[in-house]
Amino acid sequence: MSRIKLLPETVASQVAAGEVVERPASVVKELVENSIDAGARSIEVGIQRGGMSRIRVVDDGCGMDRDDALLSLERHATSKIASAADLAAISTLGFRGEALPSIASVSRFRLTTREPGAVAGTEILVNGGRIETVRDGGDAPGTQVEVRSLFYNLPARRKFLRSETTETRNIEHQFFLQALAHPAIGFSLVRDEKVALQLPVTPSLRDRIRDLYGAEFLNELLEISEHEHRGVRVRGWIGRAGVSRQTRAQQFVFVNARAIDSGILATALREGYHTALMRGQFPVTFLFVDLDPQDVDVNVHPAKREVRFRDPARIREAIVEAVQRTLESGRIDWQRKFSAPVPGGTTAVSSQASLSKPDSPPPVLLKQSPTSEIMGRDSTRPSTSIPQPALAVDTDSVPPTVTPPYLEPASAPKDDQQFQIIGVLNRLYVLMENSDGLVLVDQHAAHERILFEELRRRMEEQGVPSQRMLLPQIFSLPPRDAEWVERNVMTLQKMGIGIESFGANSFRVDTLPAFLEIADAASFLRRVIDELKATSRNSSPLRLGEDMIAKTVCRHAVKANDPLRYPEIEKLIRDLLACDLPYCCPHGRPTMIQISHAELEKKFGRKV
Ligand code: ADP
Ligand code: MG
Repeated sequence: MSRIKLLPETVASQVAAGEVVERPASVVKELVENSIDAGARSIEVGIQRGGMSRIRVVDDGCGMDRDDALLSLERHATSKIASAADLAAISTLGFRGEALPSIASVSRFRLTTREPGAVAGTEILVNGGRIETVRDGGDAPGTQVEVRSLFYNLPARRKFLRSETTETRNIEHQFFLQALAHPAIGFSLVRDEKVALQLPVTPSLRDRIRDLYGAEFLNELLEISEHEHRGVRVRGWIGRAGVSRQTRAQQFVFVNARAIDSGILATALREGYHTALMRGQFPVTFLFVDLDPQDVDVNVHPAKREVRFRDPARIREAIVEAVQRTLESGRIDWQRKFSAPVPGGTTAVSSQASLSKPDSPPPVLLKQSPTSEIMGRDSTRPSTSIPQPALAVDTDSVPPTVTPPYLEPASAPKDDQQFQIIGVLNRLYVLMENSDGLVLVDQHAAHERILFEELRRRMEEQGVPSQRMLLPQIFSLPPRDAEWVERNVMTLQKMGIGIESFGANSFRVDTLPAFLEIADAASFLRRVIDELKATSRNSSPLRLGEDMIAKTVCRHAVKANDPLRYPEIEKLIRDLLACDLPYCCPHGRPTMIQISHAELEKKFGRKV
């Protein structure tokens, strides 16, 4: 007797459902995608008990005639592709022809649909994959799918469902994804008979974000300056430098309007943010990547959550560039806030005046402020000057080959920055006023940012200072890493790593970057190789050097509790405002917090 049997159609659908329908949220995803593909202008999602007892999706799309409605429930029945060649350039969200039969095989399922202009529509009832009723039905043009008692016939699957709250949250996440990707479609979410969200049609992503998260949230975001890189278009909104979250929950990435999980894109975002992101934190992004459908394969994941790119490096570069440019553009905002005169601030300092008269007396306000921690000019404490970072290495053990440059922050006249220093709080936070309201500056973080950018500039000009090792070290690498090193010897040397080939897959290292304490050169190099391999081709070869300086400047920057004299504070602020990314330290923590007049008025109840 033969041991191999062809599975009955219903069983085959249930097997497929295992991949496509994981939980109620996957049903919502598939149904909403179908509505979008059907050209709907308005989509309503209704759920009961976390979608476990009922899910209903109603759209005003193209609908189906009776034959198509019946066909749509067959496996591998789709209107979206016709041949294998179509797989090469998919422009719809669906294409596998599996969702409806899969869902219908694991639930009590009802489909009503009607084409616009048709006299009557069709209603089909399916129970655990068996079609029970086909009759006239369907009131408004469009399609309505109702899914009850999900997994009622697969108790093992039902056991895997989580609490009602968790399943609801998953559905909401799915709903947000679709709503963000399609602002031109009106969406509503009805939870246990109550309207939870109602999103009007809008042409702009900005409005959709506002409708989902509130107007204030927009202040944390910057619009990506439309960016196209070799056929890859990047648009959307991303968190300002210093804005981040502890989870990935607000890191949205869409490729051709499809929400996807992609390690490549997540890495690219991280690289774009680089020093603007705290370690262990995640950026806030509503990032849309659009490219020719031929350059992306969406047929790699049953739930279509992952994609494969034909040229991942190109995507990565486009994203890194877009993010970097956008973050830097955020600087203009800050400059604007410091460019107008401080209201009523007759003593507001202009840079010209302070540069020519560095010892000019501090504004009157300072003297009156009883809590002011700013030391007078007559202070004799030697530690009050901003310490210059001492880059010298431990000269007992390793003599440096290059004398590390001492820092002298550029003293070229800056543009006219207008602010009024009020005082210093807790020996750490500089309080000041600008045209926009109150500004708090973390003096330590600010100094870190200044030193960081200064050192980086020097590195770009002169390379990383290196130190000679007492004993050169010889080590071997796996063939692929060895090949990579051979190709990148120049880059490594620029980073202060003196390395040369020493036989098959072996290398000899005799110098290392000066301001790092490296115990084991070989393991350091392996880490460098891993990090550099993961960065995009056109990012600076000094990137790794940046991580080193970020660590170093922290040790040399003024600390909290270091009292500064007034001219020092003023210089600190001016140097900070001249930085490329003035609003966060090299570890991604904020340097400045602005509290606007409007916010103050609201807090004091002067304005509602
Ligand atoms: P796929 O979306 O991969 O084609 P589905 O099983 O999700 O497969 O749907 C099968 C077919 O049913 C679709 O190709 C489409 O023609 C039709 N269909 C499904 N949902 C709708 C809808 N809401 N409005 C109009 N047609 C629909
Ligand atoms: Mg589909």
